[in-house]
Amino acid sequence: MKWGLFGGTFDPVHFGHLRAAQELAGMLGLDRVIFIPAARPPHKTEQAVTAFAHRAQMVSLAIAGNGSFSFSDVENKRPGKSYSIDTVRFFSESQADTELYFITGQDAFDGIASWYQWEKLLSMCHFVVMTRPGCSHGDISRGLPPLIAARYTYDEQNDLFRSGTGKCVLFRKTTFLDISSSAIREILRRGGQARYLLPDRVISYIQENKLYAVSPQQGQG
Ligand code: ATP
Ligand code: MG
Repeated sequence: MKWGLFGGTFDPVHFGHLRAAQELAGMLGLDRVIFIPAARPPHKTEQAVTAFAHRAQMVSLAIAGNGSFSFSDVENKRPGKSYSIDTVRFFSESQADTELYFITGQDAFDGIASWYQWEKLLSMCHFVVMTRPGCSHGDISRGLPPLIAARYTYDEQNDLFRSGTGKCVLFRKTTFLDISSSAIREILRRGGQARYLLPDRVISYIQENKLYAVSPQQGQG
């Protein structure tokens, strides 16, 4: 079995996440992509992030009906910051026979050297890095962290970088959808229309729960 572990803040989840996950599942032959909202994202201050329960519910609504997608609240079951290494450890221990691919966008992967125990993390599972508008490196190998690039060799036949640990880094192009959660939050905060950037079910949930509320000074429009 091959699983994709798709970590993110998902505040809120949008079509950029969903379409990219769908395409990667096809490209890599993933049996499942697990969306794993970060409970306490180490890189974002807790105050600025919507409650986990809402983000989790929006992900569940967004992926409902897709047999290859599932959701995990494993990061909410742990105390403290949500470190990806703990999540990968959890899945590699509970799914010993499953090949794990951690999915990130290029913008997130560019900061990998600031992740908790990142070198160890890269030795624990494969990484698949999706291109994202505004984050192209031209020469694909430049996407590897400079500190460790020398430890990887490019396997041209399979278009991936192999390390001595047996774990690989793959850069894959998915359809460019220049959508971000922060832009959606900003549209909603101004009282604008976010339709077709994220699933209708998620928009209804946002409205019902008054998330990303319009500030009273700005009104609708
Ligand atoms: P924010 O603007 O709040 O940072 P975001 O849109 O970047 O939100 P995240 O939850 O931070 O969403 O992203 C989770 C993961 O999905 C990250 O690895 C990010 O790079 C990737 N990602 C987000 N949006 C896209 C997109 N439009 N195309 C490809 N990858 C994306
Ligand atoms: Mg982001």
